[in-house]
Amino acid sequence: MTRLAAVPNLGWQEHAACRDANPSVFSPVDDRGRVDLDQARHVAHTWCAGCPVITQCRTSALVLGAQEIVQAGAWWPLSTSRNPEPVNLLDNLDGMDAA
Ligand code: SF4
Repeated sequence: MTRLAAVPNLGWQEHAACRDANPSVFSPVDDRGRVDLDQARHVAHTWCAGCPVITQCRTSALVLGAQEIVQAGAWWPLSTSRNPEPVNLLDNLDGMDAA
């Protein structure tokens, strides 16, 4: 089974709050090219907080291995980083570390 096949249904993406957003905003970096968590939190609150498909989006992030991106209200670091766990950028997500 491919990783994509493991995602139950990609039709949910049509309902994503961010479907017309510039993808670059989901990879916020500072002047030194490091993740800007304040900006990441702003992006999560702007787009993900009210998104009707956040659950499907989080499943997709887990199955496909999101890295170095804001997705489903979290920052997903490189899998090889010192702490590879996703960082919760919203207040109402269970199962993730608070940022
Ligand atoms: S939860 Fe966030 S990243 Fe995922 S589809 Fe919705 S707005 Fe986009």
